Amino acid sequence: MAEHSGGPGGSKGGSGRLDEVVARARRDRDDRLSGYRELSLKIHPWVCGRCWRAFTRENLHLLTVHHKDHNHDNNPLDGSNWENLCVYCHDNEHSRYLDHQAGAGAASGASVDERPEATNRPFERLKDLLKPK
Ligand SMILES: [Zn+2]
Ligand SMILES: [Zn+2]
Repeated sequence: MAEHSGGPGGSKGGSGRLDEVVARARRDRDDRLSGYRELSLKIHPWVCGRCWRAFTRENLHLLTVHHKDHNHDNNPLDGSNWENLCVYCHDNEHSRYLDHQAGAGAASGASVDERPEATNRPFERLKDLLKPK
């Protein structure tokens, strides 16, 4: 997600080889993680799959790769699980997915029909009858 949060910090070097190794390992990992984006941008046109906004090299960072099944580990090399989406539509897609999940969870919870007090309130009526006017 946040590939460009903050800066590289203050690694000014001089503190030995370990920093170098760690930095390289981190770079390798980032390469692997972001590899599918590069691939998807190679396979698919630089166009958002939702709003059809077209992208150029200048604003390509606003074009992200969405996993259609929302499984970031499912990366078939033919790109069948990837979809190029602009950051706005990508956001939209994910909040819609979350909404859907939340909605499904709430619906499977307490159902209104199982609450007896809505139809069966004898004492409530009795109280009304006894109430002095
Ligand atoms: Zn879009
Ligand atoms: Zn996504």
